[in-house]
Amino acid sequence: MNIQNTKRSHLYRTLYLLACLLPLLVSGCGFGPSDPHTARVLRVVDGDTIEVSFNGTKEKVRLIGVDTPETVHPTVGVEPYGREASNFTKEKLADQIVQLEFDVQERDQYGRLLAYVWLDEEMFNEVLLYEGYAQMATYPPNVKYVEVFEAAQRDARENGRGLWGITEESPEASQEDNPSPNKFLGNANSKKFHYPDCSQGQRTKTSNQVWFESKKEALDAGYEPCGTCRP
Ligand SMILES: [Zn+2]
Repeated sequence: MNIQNTKRSHLYRTLYLLACLLPLLVSGCGFGPSDPHTARVLRVVDGDTIEVSFNGTKEKVRLIGVDTPETVHPTVGVEPYGREASNFTKEKLADQIVQLEFDVQERDQYGRLLAYVWLDEEMFNEVLLYEGYAQMATYPPNVKYVEVFEAAQRDARENGRGLWGITEESPEASQEDNPSPNKFLGNANSKKFHYPDCSQGQRTKTSNQVWFESKKEALDAGYEPCGTCRP
């Protein structure tokens, strides 16, 4: 009888534990996506874009809220830190099983999934910002983690991690000498800043135009880089 009781109580305890733990595992324990979707990373396209197998389909995923320097930019050539960012994402995400978490919009205009990419209890979007491999680029209404991202980016900048450690004068970052002192055009209304030749930036009303000498100056003033010209 004793053995039987012991067995039953074991079984009971196991069932009880499962019943309590399953919802926790599914809903996350506070450090994870609120509504996770499992995907397998097939390929890393660049620092902020990956290709995954999701629901039996091959999908491109653009990470929400972050912008890594492009390796090759059509107008400015090789951007500083683009290759490092791309390699970092490859190192961390290649062949991994990840959880995708969506915000308000599930896809962008190119049909790519827009997601927060979780690797265990870490959100990779935040890691990119924290390590200085990306700059924040948030587009409403997908702003679920905007405060988390702001804190991560601030920490990276204050500590000069990654792309924040590159000085404007370093040969890597320097471009052709520009005789114009007006290097970046800010829009006081949208709080975005652009290269002077960006067509979007050029639509800025004269009364909203703010000029910055450097990217740092624009960022310090609370402006975000334009997603089109990617200054
Ligand atoms: Zn622009």
